[in-house]
Amino acid sequence: MFPMLKQLLGQMVRKPFTNLFPAKYAPKSIKKFMENVEKGKTKINPPITTPPEFRGKIVYDREKCIGCQLCIKVCPPKAIEFKKEEKKIRIYVARCIFCSQCNDICPVGALSMSSDFLLASDNKLDENLIVE
Ligand code: SF4
Ligand code: SF4
Repeated sequence: MFPMLKQLLGQMVRKPFTNLFPAKYAPKSIKKFMENVEKGKTKINPPITTPPEFRGKIVYDREKCIGCQLCIKVCPPKAIEFKKEEKKIRIYVARCIFCSQCNDICPVGALSMSSDFLLASDNKLDENLIVE
């Protein structure tokens, strides 16, 4: 009984584990809220800091890439396309499952995962969701 009570009281003073993002309190309309953010009328409640090994939006170093296509072979959802003419790749982030296998296999370290997770869009071909 005592350990349970201790835990209960501890939880009452601890900060919530959930992230109050992007607003401290749910706005009536998220669209209106974001419009007000753009106009500078209101501020976003900042997200929590991501841990060091977080797997967010993929980063591609085009200059380093040697066009070996190993990343394409290991990508489970086939999110990577080969651009034959340039011998470079294009990544469709909307398809990516953030497994990091392409990062692990790339022989020249041209791929890495960033901490960027703000990727929601109603357009899967949004320029923010294409990496090349
Ligand atoms: S992280 Fe995984 S799913 Fe995303 S592009 Fe790389 S291999 Fe494909
Ligand atoms: S594995 Fe690396 S070097 Fe090979 S195509 Fe992919 S990004 Fe380029």
